[in-house]
This record gives sequence, structure tokens and C-alpha cells, in this order.
Amino acid sequence: APVHLRAVLEGSRGQEGATALVYGEERMSHADYFRSAAAFARRLADDYGVAKGDRVAIAMRNYPEWVIAFFAAAGIGAIVVPLNSWWTGGELEFGLTDSGAKVLVADAERIERLAGAPQRLGIAVVAVRTPGPLPAGTRAWPDVLGEVPGDAALPEADLAPDDPATIFYTSGTTGVPKGALGSHRNMIANIMASSYARHRAIMRLGLELPEAQEFLGALPPPVILCVVPLFHATGAQTVMLPALATGGTLVLMYRWDAEAALRAVQRERVTAITAVPAMISQLLAAPRLADHDLSSLLVLSSGGAPAAPALVRRARGRLHELLLAQGYGMTECSATATVNGGSDYLLRPDSAGVPVATVDVKVVDPAGAELPPGEVGEVWIRGPGVVLGYWGRPEATAETFTDGWLHTGDLGRIDEEGFVYIVDRAKDMIIRGGENVYCAEVEAAIHEHPAVGEVAVVGVPHEVWGEEVGAVVRPLPGHRLEEADLRDHLDGRLASFKIPAHIRIAGHDLPRNAAGKLLKKRVKEEQGWDA
Ligand code: ATP
Ligand code: MG
Repeated sequence: APVHLRAVLEGSRGQEGATALVYGEERMSHADYFRSAAAFARRLADDYGVAKGDRVAIAMRNYPEWVIAFFAAAGIGAIVVPLNSWWTGGELEFGLTDSGAKVLVADAERIERLAGAPQRLGIAVVAVRTPGPLPAGTRAWPDVLGEVPGDAALPEADLAPDDPATIFYTSGTTGVPKGALGSHRNMIANIMASSYARHRAIMRLGLELPEAQEFLGALPPPVILCVVPLFHATGAQTVMLPALATGGTLVLMYRWDAEAALRAVQRERVTAITAVPAMISQLLAAPRLADHDLSSLLVLSSGGAPAAPALVRRARGRLHELLLAQGYGMTECSATATVNGGSDYLLRPDSAGVPVATVDVKVVDPAGAELPPGEVGEVWIRGPGVVLGYWGRPEATAETFTDGWLHTGDLGRIDEEGFVYIVDRAKDMIIRGGENVYCAEVEAAIHEHPAVGEVAVVGVPHEVWGEEVGAVVRPLPGHRLEEADLRDHLDGRLASFKIPAHIRIAGHDLPRNAAGKLLKKRVKEEQGWDA
């Protein structure tokens, strides 16, 4: 089959019975979703003159129209530009100008936030779920789509695997978000890698191979609950694409809410969830967790940020039958690079796992020379998911991508058996008087305390040491935590130079971005540790 997203969409064409999209009470079969996407692709081409290589931006909540617009645009060779729906008007405008979008598909909230910017920039807008009068140059989705013909077909397009298909922005955790230009091949490689990783993890349940294959063959298509935003690589590439490409069902939610997620699992017989660690922690702490029938759920994966081993053990304790997994990756490699699942994960809960089948990982010193097992250095990744480069940033591209290797900016090590351990982002590592302190290690040790809900470890400027270790800890709801308790707990667990010199107990949730990642710069500012 051709290696591009159009083929994935075409795959849904004949599947009348299977449900592709669920959103609240709304349900759409694969065939209907195909027809809508084909019809919208036709309108993009005919009414808006969208041609191969043109950028089509999407800015809205996780509505079914997000998915339809994505595949419609990619299906005719346009480059899809998912914009962060948490962005302010100014940031959304940055996304539109940075990508040079020709058309924007957006919901009411984003249109209001943009306050006429698309009109000023000459960008046509298709308004999704927007009641009332529309600004000039804006047409309502139902009017654009019109009556969807029963035999809707995608307009002709000449596509090659290495054509650009997407510009996903990085999460902006360490600076201004960068647009990563992904190809059709990148997207397909990731679908294959994540499906394969799931299968491999299931095989690791201890079944002999033929038995496992029979089991896998007997598995119905997945029903995947999407609890993360579609505009990031994790949501679109590890949740949406695999769900639809395997003939499965994608269940969308208006916003993240642990109780609503549990209800959706029970109602839709959800088989898999991929969440950021903070969400998994909230799911496990949900007061009504035990009241729901979660027996359909086979896989619960976390990704996007380090998951503390204590969280894995807590999940194991509360959700026995389920397969737990953790993935490591980034926007620049089309989401997934390594996966740790099943018994491997329980044995090595601090590891990001082994590279997925299509990916090579190595750890290098500052000169780029490969380091032996066990030594910490920068993690580099190679494989068919590594994107073409950063959109419009030749210098950053040249620095980050060399000879097919992606320089991740993450520090890690690989053990003798090939398991990868991510210890910190290079930018976050604390250097205290010449000694390296990796945040993940200190955070994991603090998480071992049963009253800890969230923790951020950061560097605090110090005249003599350069930096000292600081920790901000948010207790679990209903728990009390004193600095002295935490010090007793850490004593003996960590070398003394790694024990935080400063511990603050937070009275509110720690600041996070839309990807659920800790904003360490903000944490430092809040504590006055940024001087
Ligand atoms: P920006 O690049 O704009 O600063 P970002 O790096 O957070 O933002 P993403 O591409 O969404 O943007 O995130 C990838 C990063 O997330 C990785 O480089 C790594 O630092 C972190 N990460 C992802 N998964 C894991 C994991 N399982 N364990 C530890 N860190 C992870
Ligand atoms: Mg990054």
C-alpha cells in the first residue's frame, strides 16, 4: 500500500459498520467519516484553491471536525498545521504567520481569540460549531461541506511518501515552540511503530508466540479514548492515527476530566488510553475509580514526560489486570522512539524502554562520539519517524539534525540489555559545585513518599555552588506533608548533595502547559528562584 495518509483515509472507505469517531452522543461510522473528509477535501481544493504543499491550519478543541479536516487536507497533499488551542490570540497569530497558512479551520473560541487576525492576514476561515453571525471571510463548516454525497471521493492528488504532510509545533516547554515538518512516511512509520509496540507488549504478557498471535488476531479493533490534545504529536500521532488506521474507534472528549474519562471507558468499552503521567495520577486518585466497570481496558500508557516509578506501582496496585506502558519520544521524531511495557515495565519502572522496531537510539558525548552502556550523555535518535526539519528555521535544523540523527536535547543512558533511561533534559540538569544532579532521580525519590502528588525539582542559583537543588512539592488531595517528613524520607535514599537544599510545599497545582508538562521556568519564577 502507498505510504501516505491518503491511504489511511481510503482504508476507512468501505467500513460501514465500524464506528470511527465518538464525541458525546455523536457517532460516525468509518464510511461516513471517509465521505465527510472526501467532501471537505473537495471544497478545500475547489472553493479555496488548496493545492499540494499549501498549509491548512486547525485550531479547535478535540472535535470530530478536527480529525476530518486533518485527513481531508493531508489527503490532497496539503500540509496540516495543528495549532495549540491553549494559545492566546497573539500566539495563534504567530502559528498562522509562521506556517503561512492559506485556510484556517477553527472553533468559536479560537475565532473570537484571534479577533480578526485571519482577515487582516488574508486567511480564509471555516468556522466549526460557531453559532451566530460570522466575521467577514468566514463560512460555517456545514455550509462549506454542504450535502455529503453517498459516493464522495477524494480529489486526485499526486503524493509521494517523502512529501511534507504536517507541521506540528513542539510543546514550548523550553522556549518558543518550533514547527516540526513531518512527511507522510514519518506519520506512517509512527503508526506502524506504535501498533507493533502494543503487540509486542501484549506478547510479553507471557503467552507463547503462536498463542499470542492467535490472541492478537482475535482482538477486536481498538477503542481508544483520547484524553490528550490532538494538536500535539502524542494526541494526533499515538492516539488518533493508530486508532483510525487499524479500523478502530477514536473516542473524543470536550476536555480532560478524570471522572468523565472513567464514565467514557465504561460506556464505550474503551480498550486503550494514552495519557500524560499527571492524568494517570488523577485517574488513580479519582474517588469513584472502583465504581466503574473498567474490564474492557487492556492498555494504559503514559508518555510525554517522565513517569515516576511510584506511579507505576500505584497503578499496578489499583488496576491489576491492565497492561501498563510508557513511551518516550518527541515531536521531532513523530512521537514514539522507545516503549517500555508489560513485565519489562514492572521490572524496570524507571526506564523509557527499548527503541521501537524502526528506531535506533544512541547516547553520545558532547563531541558526538557514542558512549558505552551505562554512561550518561545526549540521546540521539535515527529512523523513518525523524522529521524533515524545522519549518522555516534552517539554523535550528542544521544544529538538531545531522546525518539522519536527531539530537534530542535529553540526557540519558542505555543499559547492557538495550533499555533506555532518560535522566533529564540537558537544559534542566542541575550542576551543584561541579556535581551533576539529574532532576528525574530526585523527583522519583520524592514521589516515593506516599503523600506526594506532584513535584518539580529545579536549580536554584547559589553564589558558591553555582546552583543548589530546589524542590516544590504538591501533596495529594487530602494529605498533609511537612518539610521535615520529606527530609527524613530522602535521608539515605539520595546522596546528600542531591537532597534539595530548598523544599517548598505548594498550596496549588504546579504550572503545566497543554502537553501536561511542568513549566520549570514558571516554577522558579513563582518561588523567586530565577534571580
Ligand atoms: P520544546 O521542544 O518546545 O521545549 P517539548 O520538548 O516539551 O517542548 P515535545 O516534543 O512535546 O516538546 O516533548 C518531547 C520531550 O518530552 C522530550 O524531548 C523529553 O524531554 C520529554 N519526554 C517525552 N516522553 C518522556 C518520557 N517518557 N520520559 C521522560 N521525558 C519524556
Ligand atoms: Mg523539545
